[in-house]
Amino acid sequence: MSRKFFVGGNWKMNGTKKVADDLLGNLMKGSLDPNVDVLIGVPALYLDYVKEKSSCCIKVAAQNCYKVEKGAFTGEISPAMLKDIGVDWVILGHSERRQIFQETDLLIAEKVNHALQSGLSVVACIGETLDEREAGQTESVVAKQIKAIHEKICNWDNVVIAYEPVWAIGTGKTASPQQAQEVHKILRKWLADEVSEAVSQKTRIIYGGSVTAANCKDLAKECDIDGFLVGGASLKPEFVDIINAKQ
Ligand code: PEP
Repeated sequence: MSRKFFVGGNWKMNGTKKVADDLLGNLMKGSLDPNVDVLIGVPALYLDYVKEKSSCCIKVAAQNCYKVEKGAFTGEISPAMLKDIGVDWVILGHSERRQIFQETDLLIAEKVNHALQSGLSVVACIGETLDEREAGQTESVVAKQIKAIHEKICNWDNVVIAYEPVWAIGTGKTASPQQAQEVHKILRKWLADEVSEAVSQKTRIIYGGSVTAANCKDLAKECDIDGFLVGGASLKPEFVDIINAKQ
């Protein structure tokens, strides 16, 4: 089955309105491969602004949201609020949320479930740390993370899985195409064994971790890599080249 290539940019906690204008301007004047789903993960404060200014071929995502609709959760935003301003996507489980904000597999799974139930599509991030990789635990760690999500959700239709080895995020150390493909293949087999062959074949599994214009084409050649989640390079003009990696 052919899966549509998917490239997301994660702006993290960067930018101003002016920077958002520049980044959007760069994307909208670049000629983007029409066979690619393009998403940008924008700081919550600028979602409405960016959503208003971006063209319909660019999907806008929040970088986080909470696991209930409303209530006494100071500082949080809900999927219902995102839907209210026309945002249809959210990135959940990013390693910075897991590591800096101590988000657990269970909390992330609950957030993914509530986001899906609320009508959002989700980029669900998983990945091992360097210590875990060196201890030979990569497979068990990503299996545990994906299983936690599977136990909470009813269907995978609106989920993109982002495999992001923590040791590669923001470090300039990219997984080699072979290293990334190996884990993507494990994840696809996990989906086939634990969910269904159909879900395994249609779910996009994208790679994140120091993707640049220089390394994206080789990564994109691997059969189980269906796109990228890009941090640092999504704030640079080269993001357009990453979107067009398959060309
Ligand atoms: C990310 O933030 O998801 C990411 C992969 O960052 P970077 O591309 O900078 O490694």
